Amino acid sequence: METIRIDMTEEKVDHQKLEAPIEILKKGGLVAFPTETVYGLGGDALRADASKKIYAAKGRPSDNPLIVHIADFSQLEEIASEVPESARKLNEAFWPGPLTMIVKKNDKVPYETTGGLDTVAVRMPSHPVARALLQDSRVMIAAPSANTSGRPSPTMADHVWEDLHDKIDCIIDGGTVDIGLESTIVDLSEDVPTILRPGYINQEMIREVLGECIMDPGLSEENKKVRPKAPGMRYKHYAPKGELYIVEGDMDKVIDKINELAKEASESGEIVGIVATEETKDRYKYGRVLTIGSREDEDSIAHNLYGILREFDELGDTKMYTEAFSTPRIGQAIMNRLLKAAGHKVIEV
Ligand code: AMP
Ligand code: MG
Repeated sequence: METIRIDMTEEKVDHQKLEAPIEILKKGGLVAFPTETVYGLGGDALRADASKKIYAAKGRPSDNPLIVHIADFSQLEEIASEVPESARKLNEAFWPGPLTMIVKKNDKVPYETTGGLDTVAVRMPSHPVARALLQDSRVMIAAPSANTSGRPSPTMADHVWEDLHDKIDCIIDGGTVDIGLESTIVDLSEDVPTILRPGYINQEMIREVLGECIMDPGLSEENKKVRPKAPGMRYKHYAPKGELYIVEGDMDKVIDKINELAKEASESGEIVGIVATEETKDRYKYGRVLTIGSREDEDSIAHNLYGILREFDELGDTKMYTEAFSTPRIGQAIMNRLLKAAGHKVIEV
């Protein structure tokens, strides 16, 4: 199938240009669109056939449920069998925004959308293009990240094109996304609100609103035997083709170690890539140095992470070394993605 591409700026949403993608959604087709986190691959969440197409286009295992995107809170009420008080509070505090809530579903939501689960993940995105698409169509849109399963999530339309052109009906190009990491997922379907996937909205922020919020024990690095509760967190993810190592510790020692490893690897014929920051980039002597952002601005690191992981593949790097980014606010989310990309290969210095 030929994929149509529609250009739209975040500043000025052209409602007329959205008519074609809305038509496609209403007919059960697939439309990729920008959100504030990453690009989503959307289909009508209440149609089993549309959800099946999403899994097929991404090559995604069908037990890995989709997030349903909504225009306003009444749509959550429409698909939940119970609306917990905590959902109302989080709606007030963070929606529209980069937070996904898991609640018990009702019969309107097909099991094809929830991967067979009796709960449904729901998010109200804040990106103007996503909001306009949801509001103008009134379609609740199931949308996982718009990448081929296993590749880094797309942060610009070209990434989506790379992975999915000819497999989906339409891509709306809204430029580079803002946050660059997928939404925080909080499970409200059981007694204690639990974060299943860390993101831009962190545990502290949710605690401030709800009083309590725990991390899914399955996310812990120490406790690898506990299965993560979100099916998607169990799969291998985001891995670049070469081997990526995280070097962690005192910054001077990290730089020395990366220089040592990069020298050795280069001499034995590897194509070496290094992930550095503005603060450290001039101190690396071997390999190709990619600057991810500044430690003074942790949002910049989140923003550029997936682009850099894709760049490694484009450049054909075979051995990559990165500093660790346990920054104060979203460091947990950044490291969660980076550890997966590195297959948990960490060198402590
Ligand atoms: P993606 O849309 O690619 O960001 O992935 C969605 C994530 O949400 C995956 O990790 C899913 O496993 C998770 N998810 C979606 N629905 C549920 C649910 N009902 N229960 C637990 N996790 C969910
Ligand atoms: Mg994804």
